[in-house]
Amino acid sequence: MSDPGLLLILSGPSGVGKGTVCKRLLQTDANTTVSVSATTRQPRQGEVDGEHYHFLTKEDFLHRIAGNEFLEWAEVFGNYYGTLKSEVDRQLNAGKNVILEIDVQGAMQIKTACPHGIFVFILPPSLEELENRIRLRATENDANISMRLAKAEEEIGYAKKYDYQIVNDDVDRAVAQILGIIAAEKAKRFPGA
Ligand code: 5GP
Repeated sequence: MSDPGLLLILSGPSGVGKGTVCKRLLQTDANTTVSVSATTRQPRQGEVDGEHYHFLTKEDFLHRIAGNEFLEWAEVFGNYYGTLKSEVDRQLNAGKNVILEIDVQGAMQIKTACPHGIFVFILPPSLEELENRIRLRATENDANISMRLAKAEEEIGYAKKYDYQIVNDDVDRAVAQILGIIAAEKAKRFPGA
């Protein structure tokens, strides 16, 4: 029988490249999957419901909060985001490592609920580089960019509460580091497996 999957919580400021790192991880390790979050924000161009997010109305989201359907949820930039328990349980039970790509508020909630989770924070090489990346993405208007930068600085303050901090100056290197973390944690929890 395969070992149970690991729960990996991945945070980092908006624009740090979490999405790219996640995507590459999934391509490299077939046993790792990402939990699809629910959100009330509008889909960006190219985003597909059920693939990038489960896009919900605010009413539906609030109803699910009341029904205790979320492992964690948070309000970020005026929208709700949350991890559905059903999503995570389904994948962990299938023996998959599950990545939660979530903000620091959500991660801190999970730290209490899931002490067995592995907490990884992705840092930008510098704040200047982060600002460049956010501007390059150019899907946000100026007010949004300042808001995301201010939040980035606040979020980076939480990095030391994570088990691991890695700098995303090179995607391949960041992915290799995370795969190393998964291997080390597996060896620690399931010796000789
Ligand atoms: P974006 O709108 O750029 O896709 O995401 C904005 C922020 O929401 C990012 O920091 C992202 O990590 C966070 N986020 C995405 N999904 C979740 C979730 O399920 N829970 C929490 N707490 N944050 C999330």
